Amino acid sequence: MLTATCHCGAVRVEIPRRPRSVTNCNCSICRRYGTLWAYYKAAQVRVVAEPGSIGGYVWGDKTLRFARCNHCGCVTHWESIQPGAVGRMGVNVRNFDPAAIGPVRIRRLDGASTWRYLD
Ligand SMILES: [Zn+2]
Repeated sequence: MLTATCHCGAVRVEIPRRPRSVTNCNCSICRRYGTLWAYYKAAQVRVVAEPGSIGGYVWGDKTLRFARCNHCGCVTHWESIQPGAVGRMGVNVRNFDPAAIGPVRIRRLDGASTWRYLD
């Protein structure tokens, strides 16, 4: 298991294993956040935070909720809120110690347009 926290430590995220690859998406929200996403089943990810520490952002077709720390602002994860598709989760590996993640392949996703990987 690997553990990350936001910058201030109010939100902790635990993942079961190193990601095999991470996704750098160019969509309008991910490029602004500067996130690198690793994907897991929601049941495999544990988010620990004091009540009120996590803020959410939902936009567009309202299929995902982006979560951030209300204190330091770091984006920690997204969760699916689409009925029938709940269970998938994206974790922002930028919050992890790079040494713990190790050398990992970064895949570029064209989320802005084609929804295809560019590699
Ligand atoms: Zn924080």
